[in-house]
Amino acid sequence: MIPARYGASRFPGKLMQDLGGKPVIVRTYEAAKETNLFDEVFVVTDSEIIFSEIEQQGGKAIMSKIEHESGSDRIAEAVEDMDVDIVVNVQGDEPFTNREGLEQVLKLFKGDDADKIDLASLMTEIHDWKEISDPNCVKVIVDKDNFAQYFSRSPIPYPRDKNIAVQYYKHKGIYAFRKQALMDFYRLPMRTLEAAEKIECIRYLEYGKNIKMAVTNVQGIEIDTPEDLIRANKALRQKNEIAVNNKYRNFPMVPKVVFGAGSFDQLSSILAAQRKDKAPFIFLVDEVFKNNNEILDHINLHFNDKLLFISADEEPKTVQVDQIVKEIKSEFTNKPSGIIGIGGGTILDLAKAVSIILTNKGSAADYQGWDLVKNKAVYHVGVPTISGTGAEVSRTTVLTGPIKKLGINSDFTPFDQVVLDPNLTAGVAKNQWFYTGMDCFIHCVESLNGTFLNAFSQSYGEKAYDLCKEIFLGNSLSEAESRAKLMMASWHGGMSIAYSQVGVAHAMSYGLSYVLGTKHGIGNCIVFDHLEEFYPKDVVLFKQMVVKYNIEIPTGLCANLTDTQLNTMIDIALSLVPLWENALGENWETIMTRERLRELYLKM
Ligand code: NAD
Ligand code: ZN
Repeated sequence: MIPARYGASRFPGKLMQDLGGKPVIVRTYEAAKETNLFDEVFVVTDSEIIFSEIEQQGGKAIMSKIEHESGSDRIAEAVEDMDVDIVVNVQGDEPFTNREGLEQVLKLFKGDDADKIDLASLMTEIHDWKEISDPNCVKVIVDKDNFAQYFSRSPIPYPRDKNIAVQYYKHKGIYAFRKQALMDFYRLPMRTLEAAEKIECIRYLEYGKNIKMAVTNVQGIEIDTPEDLIRANKALRQKNEIAVNNKYRNFPMVPKVVFGAGSFDQLSSILAAQRKDKAPFIFLVDEVFKNNNEILDHINLHFNDKLLFISADEEPKTVQVDQIVKEIKSEFTNKPSGIIGIGGGTILDLAKAVSIILTNKGSAADYQGWDLVKNKAVYHVGVPTISGTGAEVSRTTVLTGPIKKLGINSDFTPFDQVVLDPNLTAGVAKNQWFYTGMDCFIHCVESLNGTFLNAFSQSYGEKAYDLCKEIFLGNSLSEAESRAKLMMASWHGGMSIAYSQVGVAHAMSYGLSYVLGTKHGIGNCIVFDHLEEFYPKDVVLFKQMVVKYNIEIPTGLCANLTDTQLNTMIDIALSLVPLWENALGENWETIMTRERLRELYLKM
């Protein structure tokens, strides 16, 4: 049984954080299953998000009916009516749980003194006084037969005589109970020693139960803090799991694209060929076009086709995707013939996500991450009306979810068809044109200066970079030429990061956006303006562009943040490991410390 509480006090939502493309809790579940030691493995949780995540991955989950004080209570409720002899508790935040430790604990129930054991647990040697004296590390002392005598957050024993060599042990959160012991625990009230130390297993000792300990030397990584998560992601990569995938990715591209001023006219005939009987096309159109007949007249609604106007005032959210899907499903019995997104990055990302969730059960939040989507999406078409994000070519759709801001990155995400008509971008206001255009410029800078650079991303990145310089610093282009070129720069910029990564500006901009809701384009500009130490010559160019177009970059955003807000911002930024690794290399953590990041944010 893996108890999984959603709200952890030190690191809220940690079990749903991304660990090498899967949430921590899924990793723990899979690790427990892979040991092949159990007849059944269940996650027991208070959270519907965790519940549906596990079910989605084909695992077994149980919702607890009652609020619980502890993980043991939670699993006791779950096993009360099950016919089991031994119940093993694996902590949800131990994704590297391995066979060896669990096997040792289970073996105790077959030993000579097995009939004396009410429950068994694990301990590991510790030597570092910093760890011994750390109250977050629970120590245990045992008798000569390894039965636990006491658990404490204090160093036990106290080393009054420094000449006596004592072995200190740290308690590891794996327990195996006889069912009776677990049920007793559930029914017996907490006493003062347990309450004072906040250590569950003291209750057994207080009621005279016998806890036998096994020693293990395997050091897993528990996920208690954002730093642990970073370490864990690194450990996973070292196991080569994602390194392999990332190195030679088999990358889908947009298979069909039509380009040119006026090409939007083609949309109707393109769609006609894709229409399935009575299944409608759903158009998701930026609200800014509500009264724009030139655009609306070209959207020929047929039969039961539906047009939804959507505001791009805020970054797209997983709940918004779920809502649109619900609306479509409640109105139509047939799966739509297609989803057409007409707008900027916000609307394009929504269109991609809606087309995915129409064929994949659950919430959009369940698919934030790498390659979590199982079924092919509904046919989807992207028609950008502002250039720069590269969302029209990319393999991701960036969404803000309940606990993270992360794309649905999958082979099914890219559009089946894109229409690139520069005429559609004619009405974009100057500031917005600049912010979104700079997204493209920054994609190129981050890709071209990154450690992941390769000939594929370089060839696209250099072209887009040159186009940006021509558009934003040159003087020779007509307005129409400039719009057409920016459309292609956006495309190439998107292709460039497909086979590499973005960098410092994007990592920090995600932090701003998560905490303050700052939109992507302007957020990148706010950050990039202060990144001269990382991208010296390009920040100079950027500043020239700002002056040339008389753009105002907001300042003072972080001046009045609370400590909690600032820390969340730092956590979100630091969790984007691949971006930092691309920008600063493998040892990025020594370069970009929390303190340095804090100082940078405080400048903004
Ligand atoms: P946007 O879609 O948020 O639109 C910005 C503003 O411009 C909105 O007010 C919109 O109504 C308006 N607008 C759009 N077209 C217009 C037109 N033709 N005339 C007048 N106004 C128009 O802006 P964006 O910068 O294109 O997109 C930002 C979003 O893109 C963010 O949510 C970001 O996360 C996402 N993004 C996605 C990817 C990806 O690969 N999927 C990459 C980068 C950014
Ligand atoms: Zn971007």
